[in-house]
Amino acid sequence: MADTSDRRLSPASLLAHGGGGVDPATGAVVPPIHTATTFARDADYRLTSAAHLYSRDDSDLPRQIESLMARLENGADSRVFASGMAAVAAVLRSVRPGGTIVAQAGIYWGTTSWLRKHCAHAGIALIEADASDTARFCETLRETGPNLVLLEVPSNPWLTVADIAPIAETAHGLKAVLVVDATAATPLLMRPLDLGADLVLHSATKALNGHSDVLAGIVTCRDADSDVWRFIREERHDSGAVLGPFEAYLLLRGLRTLSLRMERMCANAQAVAEMLAAHPAIEAVFYPGLAGHASHEAARRQMTKGGYLMSCLVKGGAAEALAVAGRLTLIKRATSLGGVESLVEHRHTIEGDATGIPVNLLRLSIGIEDAEDLIADLSSALAPLAR
Ligand code: PLP
Repeated sequence: MADTSDRRLSPASLLAHGGGGVDPATGAVVPPIHTATTFARDADYRLTSAAHLYSRDDSDLPRQIESLMARLENGADSRVFASGMAAVAAVLRSVRPGGTIVAQAGIYWGTTSWLRKHCAHAGIALIEADASDTARFCETLRETGPNLVLLEVPSNPWLTVADIAPIAETAHGLKAVLVVDATAATPLLMRPLDLGADLVLHSATKALNGHSDVLAGIVTCRDADSDVWRFIREERHDSGAVLGPFEAYLLLRGLRTLSLRMERMCANAQAVAEMLAAHPAIEAVFYPGLAGHASHEAARRQMTKGGYLMSCLVKGGAAEALAVAGRLTLIKRATSLGGVESLVEHRHTIEGDATGIPVNLLRLSIGIEDAEDLIADLSSALAPLAR
C-alpha cells in the first residue's frame, strides 16, 4: 500500500487511497461509517477518545476528507460543509456589518443571489465587478477598499478565468482576503493558494464527488492562524452546517476516482467544444481550452486543462436553444455540473433577467461518456438549425 503520509505522492495516488491508510485495528482499506452522534465518557468522566465527543463538532470521515483536500490544495487546513452554499456562506459571513465585499460579476447565480440578500440584510457594501479585465478589476479594488474579494475561476456559466496572482497582490496590498471558488477546476487543474489566494472553496457536490448523489462543500486555507480561518473554523464548529457520515463516505469514495474522471471529462469537453465551435448553428462557445476564448491565455497560465464545463450560444433565441436541449437524448436536461453524466441547462430559465444571461445560452457539463456519442447527440440536436 502507498505511504500516503509522503507529501511527494502525486494527487492521483493520494486520491486513489482516499488520503488514508489501512485501519490499524482491522486492516480495512476503506474507512468505516460511524453513525454515532455522541461518544461515551468513562467513570472518571474522561472521553473514551479525545477526538470523539459529539458529531456536530467533528467526525472521522470529514476529518479524512479535510486532510486529503488540504494536501491536494497545498493548503494548511480544510473544513467540509453540508453543501457548497454552506461553505460560501461561512466564508462570506466573515465580513462584519459595515464592511465591503467585491465579488466577481457573472458567477454562479446562487452565490450572487445569496450575497445580494446577505449584504442588504447585514449592512455590507457589495460591489459586483467584471474580472475579465484584470487592470479594471484591481482599480475597483483600490477604489472601494474591500475586506474580502470573491472570484470564481473558471466562472459559471461564462468560463471567465480571472488572473488570480495580480488580483491577490492588489487585494493583499489593501489587507483584503482573497477567496477563489474553484469548483469548475478542482485542485487537479488549478491550485489557487499557490497563486496567492487566501482561501479556496468548492461545491464538492460537483466534480469532487462526481456522481450527482451528494451535496457538500469544502474550504481550504493558506494560513491556519489567520483571523478569517479562525472565524470559518468556529462557524463550521458552532453553526451546524456539517456533513453527515453517509454523505462523507460517498464523497470520499467519489474522490478516489477524481483524477481518472477529470482526465476523461476534460478530454471529452475539449472535443465537444471544438465540434461546437465549428458548427454552423452555434454563435459562440465559451470554453477555456479553446484558443479563441477570451480567457484562453489566463487558463494556460493557471490551469493544466480546460475543464469539464462550457457554455454556448445557439443561433436564434430562447425557442431555438430550448429546442436543441429538448432534442438531446444522451445528455440530460438538468441543473448542476461535474457528474459522470453529461448535463445541459438553459440558464435563463433559472436566472430570468436578473443577471443578463442570454436567452440562447446553453451550459454543458461534460461527463465520462464516449466522446463520439456526445458529439453525435449534439450534432443531431443541432441539425435542424443548420439546414
Ligand atoms: N459554487 C459554484 C461555482 C457552483 O456552481 C455551485 C452550484 O452549482 C455552488 C457553489 C453551490 O454549491 P451547492 O449546490 O453544493 O450548494
